[in-house]
Amino acid sequence: MTLPTLRDLHLARKRTCGLLRRTPLVESDSLSALTAAPVFLKLESLQTTGAFKLRGATNRLLMLSPEERERGVVTVSTGNHGRALAFAARRLGMRAVVCLSQLVPENKRAAIRKLGAELRIVGHSQDEAAREAERLIGEEGLIYVPPFDDFHIIAGQGTLGLEILEDCPEVEELLIPLSGGGLISGVALAVKGSLPGVRVVGISMERGAAMYHSLQAGRPVEVEEEKSLADSLGGGIGLDNRFTFPLVRELVDEVVLLSEAEIAAGMRHLFREERLVAEGGAAVGVAAILAGKAGGRGRTSVAVVSGCNVDMDAFLTVVG
Ligand SMILES: *Cc1c(COP(=O)(O)O)cnc(C)c1O
Repeated sequence: MTLPTLRDLHLARKRTCGLLRRTPLVESDSLSALTAAPVFLKLESLQTTGAFKLRGATNRLLMLSPEERERGVVTVSTGNHGRALAFAARRLGMRAVVCLSQLVPENKRAAIRKLGAELRIVGHSQDEAAREAERLIGEEGLIYVPPFDDFHIIAGQGTLGLEILEDCPEVEELLIPLSGGGLISGVALAVKGSLPGVRVVGISMERGAAMYHSLQAGRPVEVEEEKSLADSLGGGIGLDNRFTFPLVRELVDEVVLLSEAEIAAGMRHLFREERLVAEGGAAVGVAAILAGKAGGRGRTSVAVVSGCNVDMDAFLTVVG
């Protein structure tokens, strides 16, 4: 199996240049003061479509052959990947179908529909939604674009890491939301490629941390999916995982788990102290710092705030 390298990330960046926003890196004065060490936030919540997923999806679609573009694409998503794929497909004039489970919040479903993609809502887990995607691949010839376990998706997410490296070459610790591991694999490849000593910390919720349990078991395992404030971190890593499990095992130094209360505290802090709206899955880096589980210890850290696509009523209940 060929895994992506730093070179593939640079090629992805060139390919997607002009189709993605270069998001800002800002110091968090409140967290720097709290930890007595510099803390920076990579505001990927300001990316087009509201999450970093557009990086991987755009890079993936640009790698399709003209014949594949003609057939159209299908995916399974907890929301943000589907939205990104819908956006990227519309821009390239392609058909896109997004399969979702009933756990995906209504605000995310509506956003995908609005972008002109076809929605299929099936079952109560990512795995059930995945079976519907398989059916469409078989029956309608659609091309599957996975949310994370794909060479070009990982390379696309890695462009975010290249930006961090340019804006904060003194970084010593990276705090990165972790679900399927496409984001952390890409960013770790980018940053460790130049700064091998950087500490990479993945952060998941206690409820259904598939990558964490897979690392413990030494192979991909299934976990029960539960409702969480960090809905975009839900879902398994795939029992036939090819890319992200080996990359995470090689590049990630530690995985930290957070309770729902800790995640809520992260969202609240970002809103009240930094005036930023982040979804639960995106606030886990800040939440881990507040919980004393990562960051600080004299190191310069960067927390990736990975998305802002939270249902506003639910958000206001959390931060109110
Ligand atoms: C998808 C997603 C993640 C997790 O990314 P993986 O590549 O699956 O690890 C984190 N935050 C947000 C907002 C996401 O949409």
